[in-house]
Amino acid sequence: MPQEPALLPSSADSAPARPARRSLLQWFDSAAVPAAEGADADRVDWLRVLPFVLLHLGCVGVLWVGISPVAVLVAALLYVVRMFAITGFYHRYFSHRAFRTSRPLQFVFALIGAASVQRGPLWWAAHHRHHHRHSDAVEDLHSPRHGFWRSHMGWFLTRRAFATDLSRVPDLARFPELRWLDRFDIVVPLAMAVGLYGLGALLQRAWPALGTSGPQLLVWGFFVSTVVLFHATVTINSLSHRFGRRRFPTRDDSRNNLWLALLTFGEGWHNNHHFYSSSARQGFRWWEIDLTWYGLRLMALLGLVRDLKPVPEWVLAKAER
Ligand SMILES: [Zn+2]
Ligand SMILES: [Zn+2]
Repeated sequence: MPQEPALLPSSADSAPARPARRSLLQWFDSAAVPAAEGADADRVDWLRVLPFVLLHLGCVGVLWVGISPVAVLVAALLYVVRMFAITGFYHRYFSHRAFRTSRPLQFVFALIGAASVQRGPLWWAAHHRHHHRHSDAVEDLHSPRHGFWRSHMGWFLTRRAFATDLSRVPDLARFPELRWLDRFDIVVPLAMAVGLYGLGALLQRAWPALGTSGPQLLVWGFFVSTVVLFHATVTINSLSHRFGRRRFPTRDDSRNNLWLALLTFGEGWHNNHHFYSSSARQGFRWWEIDLTWYGLRLMALLGLVRDLKPVPEWVLAKAER
């Protein structure tokens, strides 16, 4: 795969062609271009984000491929597994170190997280730590104070947000397997798309009564499930800083919102989380449903994860009020 040569000026390159080549290179190698800065960095690089646009257009495929119970089941299952990987691992484990696990399991959940098409674990954690440091201040890339669309997805599409700032995640960057996954973040999503197509084609031949096909599983399992998963996840940036109750008077605008907590498996208790972000649990009261916490408790019982950081007594006492 060509890398550095495209970055170096060459007499054969015409000036207008170079930015396009740079954007295309970033589809395959996210570290191909240094971090963007300056006023231009806040513009959307449409060529670079074309795969993100195509991901959404792929959902229109439902008009051609039809629907079957197995396709909906696969889409729902992939939503559940990947949402758990995002909330339990990309967020609570990689970003906040709220519990411990083995290196192999760390990699397995980094892989499942990467299949969510929300970039690599280092990129995700680096941006998230920055969000906590500058919540709703000028520097916060996805504060709703910059407008709804900017907080929901606009920030994610800019050149400024594209690079992974490894200085924010030195604890994670020491694992070469994670750095690789982060750099070539298109590999896992592509493999999943091909795998779903293959599975659908196989089921069509082996069990035609299921009424599915390669294109159908690709559209439902990859495009529809991933797009719903993406928009559900980013409601925590756009809506959880706007709608809901503020139990704790944090410096930011974070809110607790039951509906968003249900959609995102516990992340909607966002004001709790901004007040005390290092615990593995985000629903602080028994009735604050936090599916990720229950999943992590189960994994701890099975010996897969350990040292789940609890919510301290003094925080629970404040949450009583
Ligand atoms: Zn937040
Ligand atoms: Zn967080």
